[in-house]
Amino acid sequence: MDLKVIDHATCTFCGCVCDDIQLHADDTRIHKAKGACVLGKAWFLNHTTERHYPAALIDGKEATVEEAIQVAADLLYEADMPLVYGMSNTTCEAQRECVAMADLLGGLLDSHTSL
Ligand code: SF4
Repeated sequence: MDLKVIDHATCTFCGCVCDDIQLHADDTRIHKAKGACVLGKAWFLNHTTERHYPAALIDGKEATVEEAIQVAADLLYEADMPLVYGMSNTTCEAQRECVAMADLLGGLLDSHTSL
């Protein structure tokens, strides 16, 4: 099987953001992540282009992304002390939006690394 080699890939699983990973991939999945730690390897190798879940859920039921965003916005707006939490497996751009949202809400911001 011919695998495409991608040099200098960035792992965004944890805050280290290693940017010297070499990936070996076909059209649907990554088969090797040279230079990644055990967490990074698990992250790269278990993420595929296959869709296992709907784009959004509300109370466990499939919903459109627009509907889910509206419900999330309502919950955050009504919260006494909103917490914007997580942000692993997300891009820098998405993390920037999380920080802006926490500022706008007057809420708290925390990452999974506090665990
Ligand atoms: S999970 Fe590992 S490879 Fe990925 S950014 Fe963190 S330390 Fe680097």
